[in-house]
Amino acid sequence: MNAELIAVGSELLLGQIANTNAQFLSQQLAELGINVYFHTVVGDNAERLQQAVNIAQTRADIIIFTGGLGPTKDDLTKETIAHILNRELVLEEEALRSIEAYYARTKRTMTENNKKQALVLSGSVVLKNDNGMAPGMALTVDDITYILLPGPPKEMNPMFIQYARPFLLGKLKQHERIESRVLRFFGIGESQLETEIEDLLERQSNPTIAPLAGDGEVTLRLTAKHASATEAKKLLDETEQAIVKRVGQYLYGYNEDTLFTKLMEQLNAHKKTIAAAESLTGGRFTAELTAIPGASKAVKGGVVCYTNEVKERVLFIPSEVLETAGAVSEQCAKLLAEHVRNICQADIGISFTGVAGPDLLEGKPAGTVYIGIADGRKTEVHSLSLAGDRETIRTRAIKYGCFAVLKRLAAL
Ligand code: ATP
Ligand code: MG
Repeated sequence: MNAELIAVGSELLLGQIANTNAQFLSQQLAELGINVYFHTVVGDNAERLQQAVNIAQTRADIIIFTGGLGPTKDDLTKETIAHILNRELVLEEEALRSIEAYYARTKRTMTENNKKQALVLSGSVVLKNDNGMAPGMALTVDDITYILLPGPPKEMNPMFIQYARPFLLGKLKQHERIESRVLRFFGIGESQLETEIEDLLERQSNPTIAPLAGDGEVTLRLTAKHASATEAKKLLDETEQAIVKRVGQYLYGYNEDTLFTKLMEQLNAHKKTIAAAESLTGGRFTAELTAIPGASKAVKGGVVCYTNEVKERVLFIPSEVLETAGAVSEQCAKLLAEHVRNICQADIGISFTGVAGPDLLEGKPAGTVYIGIADGRKTEVHSLSLAGDRETIRTRAIKYGCFAVLKRLAAL
């Protein structure tokens, strides 16, 4: 089955908003194993919308609309579809009651045009709007499935997950059971990863392997189709094993994992605590970790030691080190990690010092980064030359720090 997404709204064509609905729906459909071949955007204009629908009907099994279900005159999606499919619009009592209840609750008077929102295409399955007023609709006519969803993402996303997705699952044939799994890698570039598994990528059919890179990480989404879920999982396992054999040392997690949630999980699993001395990263490493619920078990705290004064006074870095080797140095990173570990009485101390740019610091170029990791036995210092702007360098540094600690924990 293949789908086309039609986003309706002049604000999209004017560049006032980005079509994030298409992004969300494409991701959702990919997970269902439904191919999306076209994204179309059309303004609030009945004639042009009709043209777009006519084209989509020639090339899609599923057409999903977002926007134009509201009460105003320019909201004309369902009116246009009704016209094309030669269907009536009928009053949906439940939707009307919930619109009336909404107005009663907010003590506002309901204007007549709001009733329009309770009109649905006759013969359609009504998709409840749990976060707004206009209901969605799903119907199949002449082997083409039409799904109408509201424009606002906070209404559209939950409606798709709760009601449209199950409707689509019902349409998928049994042999199209889909299982997917995302493998997450760090420390390897997209092109290197693709080279290492080139033959697997070339041979792929079931499961399919889709690489994606971003923010210093690479992911592979494996998607398998099979009549039985167990068999689909087995197909995923086999492909994963083949990939892990080649690039397993860079694999850090699956699906929704992040380097930070993974680090938290592993610190807890090993019953270890951590403290950070952050110069380059200004507290971002600690902020990311403490954003995770239950962080207090593993995170002791840390010091934002942005100036040499603080490095010296709070973290006891000897002034000779700062004057000779400099704040951005292997020596300084080592001492920062060891001292913050001692001061915070943590099992692991980590430090970030470096040049975020754009200007040179201590004569060192932007991207020069030292990360120290101390555990009381041995202190390792990673010396990196990172590329990118200020934000990228800081992000990569904290991710690198996570990955290095994960490696250290795995070796325990
Ligand atoms: P409403 O009842 O709010 O009028 P609607 O279903 O009629 O909803 P639109 O009027 O087309 O939807 O859009 C309402 C708002 O939803 C837009 O102003 C915009 O903020 C958001 N929106 C619409 N389409 C998209 C889209 N494709 N991607 C992201 N946001 C969108
Ligand atoms: Mg509207």
